Amino acid sequence: MNILILGAGQLARMMSLAGAPLNLNVVAYDVASKQIKHPLTGEVYATSLEQAILNADAITAEFEHIPDDVLTLCCNSNKFYPGKAAIKTGGDRSLEKALLDKTGVACAPYQLITEKAHLENAVKTLGKPLVIKTCQAGYDGKGQWRLKSDNQIEQIWSEMADFIATGTQQTPHTIIAEKMIPFDREVSIIGARDKHGNVAIYPLTENEHTNGVLTLSIAGKNNKNLEAQANDAFTKIANELNYVGVLAIEFFDVQGTLLVNEIAPRVHNSGHWTQQGCHCSQFENHMRAVAGLPLGNTELKQITAMINVLGQASIPFDVLKVSDVTSHWYGKTAKQGRKMGHINVSAASMNDLADKLGELSDFLPEQEYPGILKAAAQLI
Ligand code: ATP
Ligand code: MG
Ligand code: MG
Repeated sequence: MNILILGAGQLARMMSLAGAPLNLNVVAYDVASKQIKHPLTGEVYATSLEQAILNADAITAEFEHIPDDVLTLCCNSNKFYPGKAAIKTGGDRSLEKALLDKTGVACAPYQLITEKAHLENAVKTLGKPLVIKTCQAGYDGKGQWRLKSDNQIEQIWSEMADFIATGTQQTPHTIIAEKMIPFDREVSIIGARDKHGNVAIYPLTENEHTNGVLTLSIAGKNNKNLEAQANDAFTKIANELNYVGVLAIEFFDVQGTLLVNEIAPRVHNSGHWTQQGCHCSQFENHMRAVAGLPLGNTELKQITAMINVLGQASIPFDVLKVSDVTSHWYGKTAKQGRKMGHINVSAASMNDLADKLGELSDFLPEQEYPGILKAAAQLI
């Protein structure tokens, strides 16, 4: 079976690796260069997007910021999963909030902003501090402002106005102000839904972000109360979108109550641990779902943590001295802060994981890999 993935980054790469044993042949469409590429080698094929769509048995996406005309072409083929509406919703925070409101799933209090008076009103009604985000752009915490005092309004508004001005009537640019949530922790839920509406959900993941970027995820901590809330939100949202594929939802835990932060209509960085932690990884389950195959087992096989490798030029090979550690390299050109790869570490118990994180910290300096020792200390 041939699968076309919109996007040619690391998520397409890992989906193609997971699809190979299922005899799924993957090609990737690089949205920036408008080229069809091999998802591992980057080799460019002499194939147009139109031809790749014709060749494909199923089409999917590795990210949500895809031009409208490309989405329409793919949708018209009736082979595109999870579909245009899901991708659009994940790529626009205003649509995302509307979906949450419609399904009755709680999120941070917010206000949409298209003019200065809206910002001033948001400061009054939501209170300070505010997290202000572009609705249609941004990832890894980019395209965001933190408003802590009234004297920042002028400066932030002028920067926001620049973003709003680059929108067009067809694709308007908007801003959203959210109350800054004093959360206890961040968690996410990843699950898959197939073409018949069957749902398979992975265990809850706990996530550590540093400067808006995911640095560490841990799966296997037992928190049935939070997991039940997350599963309920997942089912409501996936059913409402008639979703097919893997869907991720990020949450804030506020004293035992979950509020949604955002939705990603795709495989997700906080689900990379499933490569070693589960029998069927998020990448394989996404490929299975879009190819119309039965979903695989999402139960926890072993406690697993994931550490992101940000901005490094090569794999920190010393980590392989620690048992049950695997390296996943994306083959990208190094740039400061860029997601270059990740390391998964599996363990028999939380004590064992704490020991292994301690060992790993010898090879992963705190400045480049923040929070490892702190996370280890919290496990025992
Ligand atoms: P990505 O898509 O890469 O996960 P993003 O650019 O879409 O990131 P968000 O997930 O919206 O950004 O925000 C990044 C991080 O900033 C969150 O994980 C959280 O740590 C913090 N953050 C975002 N919104 C809020 C909020 N309303 N209150 C408190 N913290 C927030
Ligand atoms: Mg996001
Ligand atoms: Mg996020």
